[in-house]
Amino acid sequence: MKSRETMTIESKESQTQNLLRLKAKLMSQIFNLLDYFEVQDYFTTDVMIIGSCPVHDGDNPQAFNINIDPSSDYYGSWFCNTKHCHEGSNDILSLVGELLAKKSGRPFSFVEVLNFCKDFTKNVNVEFTANISRQDTLSSILEKNSKTQIKGRYTRSQVRSRLKYPCSYYLDRGFSSDALDYFDVGVSEDKNSEMYQRAVFPIYDENDEYMIGCVGRTICGDSKKWKNKKGFNSASFFYNYGKAIKEIDRCGTIILVEGQGDVMKLYMAGVKNAVGMFGSSLSDSQVFLLQKSGALNVVIMSDNDDAGNKVRQEAHEKLKYSFNIHDVITPANDVGDMEPSQIDSIIKPQLKGLY
Ligand SMILES: [Zn+2]
Repeated sequence: MKSRETMTIESKESQTQNLLRLKAKLMSQIFNLLDYFEVQDYFTTDVMIIGSCPVHDGDNPQAFNINIDPSSDYYGSWFCNTKHCHEGSNDILSLVGELLAKKSGRPFSFVEVLNFCKDFTKNVNVEFTANISRQDTLSSILEKNSKTQIKGRYTRSQVRSRLKYPCSYYLDRGFSSDALDYFDVGVSEDKNSEMYQRAVFPIYDENDEYMIGCVGRTICGDSKKWKNKKGFNSASFFYNYGKAIKEIDRCGTIILVEGQGDVMKLYMAGVKNAVGMFGSSLSDSQVFLLQKSGALNVVIMSDNDDAGNKVRQEAHEKLKYSFNIHDVITPANDVGDMEPSQIDSIIKPQLKGLY
């Protein structure tokens, strides 16, 4: 396992800003960067670098793209359209990681990639502008992946007015009323609602303002235990992203868990920077949200079972050049099954400096 020490880039600003700024510096030096790696086989449009893929040495002269349009959400993203070398994290750090590994014929660690990038850009200054922020990221994912209307979405207070509180189903299962209130988990008693007789978990946008979807767990023994709101594609989002983002700005770390219950139990133990994957896989949209979060450290705390181990490996592979990855293995099947006192004594020591 890796060292539990948290990484820092510089101390003056938040780590989030520093990592996003580092990526912006790299992009401002993109042609020098390509020169350094002896990448020559490309041409440039206003918005794109187009060439053959330097990662797998492809011969298709247009298969490799880097987005150089500062107004795009995908500024700094790269793509290999033949062998999909970009799969997983495809930010500029991951391209540097791939090219460093290829140039020297050995794998590089995230710390080595980060140090190379800091050194490469040490005399570069850039304006920190909105194009490298998280602005509108979630909205663009929403448009692509969900039938949910962006306009006319419910505010948090509108959501709460439609649900009944407190949710005794989860109170009886060891969740605190404070946690259920914090996450707006209530019960739908509206017979016309698709969430009727379910404990409803609203999912909010990156500002924690508007509901972008919800999932509901049956409280009356329906054979379908969990249900997504119609048109809501949970695999594209994270549970608790909006609230966690504020914590990530402070501590530079995001914690990946599988379920909503895991997020709530960690909250009850004072750990507020966890997001839920809605299951045991990590989609490209979720990787993109991680890249945009500005987090330097990613903690993987998937379930302690076969599916959880699989997503752990998947996450290591997808995120290896873009984040400092930490593993936390839970003694129970998942952290949502643990008592707060167990989380205090077993999990939190493993999260030192990471929440
Ligand atoms: Zn390729």
